[in-house]
Amino acid sequence: MPIERRVVVGWSDLRAIVFECASTGCGARVVVRPDAELDKGERVEKCPNGHLWIGDGLSVNKTFGTLKQQMSSGGKVFKVLLQFDEPTASEPTVPKQ
Ligand SMILES: [Zn+2]
Repeated sequence: MPIERRVVVGWSDLRAIVFECASTGCGARVVVRPDAELDKGERVEKCPNGHLWIGDGLSVNKTFGTLKQQMSSGGKVFKVLLQFDEPTASEPTVPKQ
């Protein structure tokens, strides 16, 4: 039986959340820092090329901002942990920004 290894990170480990536009042929990205920029009043509602990103009336940063608020208020009832497969030597690495 093979051993599977996973990498688990918490919210505080995140350095940035990258939103990528899913409109055909676009793929534009917006980088949001989880601690500083999620709380800003300015809403991220479209990609840099103007494609709307609003779903159910929530902007992308407010969606994650609400999640962050749920984790830090009301008794901290849950945490969000993100789990990834451990990268193998054959997978490309992500360049540092
Ligand atoms: Zn776009």
